[in-house]
Amino acid sequence: MLTVNAITATSATEPLVRGTVERRDLGPRDVLIEIRYAGICHSDIHTVRGEWGEVPYPLTVGHEIVGVVTEVGGQVSKHAVGDRAGVGCMVNSCRECANCQAGQEQYCTTGNIGTYADVDRDGTVTQGGYSTHVVVDEDFVLRVPESIPYEKAAPLLCAGITTYSPLSHWNAGPGRKVAVVGMGGLGHMAVKFAVAMGAEVTVLSQTLGKKDDGLAFGAADYQATRDAATFEALANRFDLIINTVSAPIDVEAYLGLLRLDGTLVSVGAPPEPLPVQVFALFGNRRSFAGSSIGSIAETQEMLDFCAERGIAPEVEVIDAGQVNEAYERVLSSDVRYRFVIDVDSLR
Ligand code: NAP
Ligand code: ZN
Ligand code: ZN
Repeated sequence: MLTVNAITATSATEPLVRGTVERRDLGPRDVLIEIRYAGICHSDIHTVRGEWGEVPYPLTVGHEIVGVVTEVGGQVSKHAVGDRAGVGCMVNSCRECANCQAGQEQYCTTGNIGTYADVDRDGTVTQGGYSTHVVVDEDFVLRVPESIPYEKAAPLLCAGITTYSPLSHWNAGPGRKVAVVGMGGLGHMAVKFAVAMGAEVTVLSQTLGKKDDGLAFGAADYQATRDAATFEALANRFDLIINTVSAPIDVEAYLGLLRLDGTLVSVGAPPEPLPVQVFALFGNRRSFAGSSIGSIAETQEMLDFCAERGIAPEVEVIDAGQVNEAYERVLSSDVRYRFVIDVDSLR
């Protein structure tokens, strides 16, 4: 067992504090990663504040992890000491169900094993990446291309794959009109990916405050959702809408923006239900869907796509002592566009 420094939540209401977590001894198929940077995802905040249910405090969150491989188990073949490595939102799955067999282990029918607040196959509670080291099964470790700086690679492991996957699945590309709702960590990556895939992209943000950024990321249009006229002007327009908002949205208002056979995909995960009358789906034969992260293979594809196309998130690097302040800024939509913890500040 390895005891390592970490940033820990002790309750839903107390600030995060410095603590430690235990990492298991390296098994034959395990990889030990010395973490360099860890991104702050809004899911970390939903989790530590108890918004998604019971939390096994004390808990260390963080599922946007990058670092260097410093040790490998005897049977490890995919990674070597010195490799640049990444870990995202899951660290294991059953490997036997239909979805795991189909290479869609994020949809493991018994539930993939989350990077934190979950129970691993050895019975221990998983602990996330706001820490100096992590031990992960080699099948759930990604290769981070050389050309992506570590701190910019971190957010790709969740914000990146969570937006790349639905854009790819629902065919964002030339000739397709895509809207992105909410331009935070996930949203700004959705804009960059949809633009790179060749779609015509509109950002739907609460205000026009970040319009210059949205246009610089390649969006063709940027509209304020606090302005009711936006919903009239853009009615029946989009093939695909990616909702990244962390709070409830008026689903029916957004469904009205879809053209024939259009799809509204929510990746945003507020704890509250999002009510919808079926009649809102009848017009234009609309679909309302959800999407959860992406498979390990697709995450590797996304990382390689970013390296080839020069795509990277906008990050603000912080020290361990600034995490509580960063949480408050995320909650007030004051993030440009992902906070990333420099884990050296924890050593
Ligand atoms: P974030 O950086 O806080 O971005 C969320 C954005 O939503 C904000 O920047 C803001 O954009 C908008 N927003 C926030 N509160 C709002 C409100 N009350 N009304 C309207 N718009 C609001 O969060 P994130 O890290 O991107 O995560 C977004 C959501 O995705 C979270 O719920 C997270 O848990 C979820 N998530 C899901 C998955 C998955 O697998 N499906 C993976 C990762 C994260 P504007 O300022 O532009 O309006
Ligand atoms: Zn996340
Ligand atoms: Zn499975």
